[in-house]
Amino acid sequence: MSYFYGEKLSKNFDNLKVFEDLGFEIEKGELITLLGPSGCGKSTLLRCIAGLTEVDSGCLYIGNQEITNLSPKDRNIGMVFQSYALFPNMTVAENIAFALKITKKTKAEINRKIKDILALIELEEKENHYPRQLSGGQQQRVALARALVTEPKVLLLDEPLSALDAKIRKNLRYQIRKIQKELNITTIFVTHDQEEALILSDRIFLMNNGQFSQIGTPEEIYTSPKNEFAARFMGNYN
Ligand code: ADP
Ligand code: MG
Repeated sequence: MSYFYGEKLSKNFDNLKVFEDLGFEIEKGELITLLGPSGCGKSTLLRCIAGLTEVDSGCLYIGNQEITNLSPKDRNIGMVFQSYALFPNMTVAENIAFALKITKKTKAEINRKIKDILALIELEEKENHYPRQLSGGQQQRVALARALVTEPKVLLLDEPLSALDAKIRKNLRYQIRKIQKELNITTIFVTHDQEEALILSDRIFLMNNGQFSQIGTPEEIYTSPKNEFAARFMGNYN
C-alpha cells in the first residue's frame, strides 16, 4: 500500500459533478504536481483532502490512518494557498507561532521551532516584520513556514506561486523543491503551468474534467502523451 492514497472519491456541488470514483496513490516523500486547466477540479480535490470540504463518498488514508472523517486540524496536513493568507496584524514569528498554539509546546520549544523554520526558509532577519513589510515571495515563504512548522505528514500547495511575478516565481519553485526534499515531505503541488510541473515533480497527475487523464513522470507525460487531451495540453508548452 502507498503512504498516502484516496479511493473512489466523489464530489458534487448541487448539480455539478466535480469528480467521481477518483483514486490516487502517492509514496512517502514524493512531490506530485496536480496539473490541469482552470476549473478541472484541482482545488476541490485538495480541499477535500485537507478536510475543508467534505467528500460525498470515498476514503482517504495517510500512513495507515484513515483521515476521511477527521477534522482538518487532526489530519496532519499543511496547506498553502495562492494568496498569502497571513494575519496582517501579527509579525512573521507570531504568524508562524499561531499554528503551534493548538499543540502543547512550551514557550522555549516554540521559539526554537520558529528559529529553525525561519532558517529553513532563509528569513531569519524578518522575524519581527509584519506581512506588509515583506515582498509577495517572502510572504509566501512565511505561509510555507507556517504550514510546515507543525511537521505535517502531507503538504498541499494550491498554486502557491501564481500571484508572483516571473523571476520570483522561478526562484521560489526551486526553494520549495529544495525544502521538500530536505524534509522528505509528501507533497501535492497544484498548478496549471506545464513548465512548473515538468521541472518540479517526481510524477505528474494530469487532470481533465475531474479525471486523471494520465499519470506519469514528467518525461513520460511530455514524450509519450497517452491521449488527445494530454498531447494537446502538454503541447501548449514550448
Ligand atoms: P480548479 O482548481 O482546477 O480551477 P476547482 O476545483 O476550483 O477547479 O473547480 C472545479 C469546479 O467546481 C468548477 O466548475 C467550479 O466552478 C466548481 N466549484 C468550485 N467550488 C465550488 C463551490 N464552493 N460551489 C459550487 N461550485 C464550485
Ligand atoms: Mg484552483
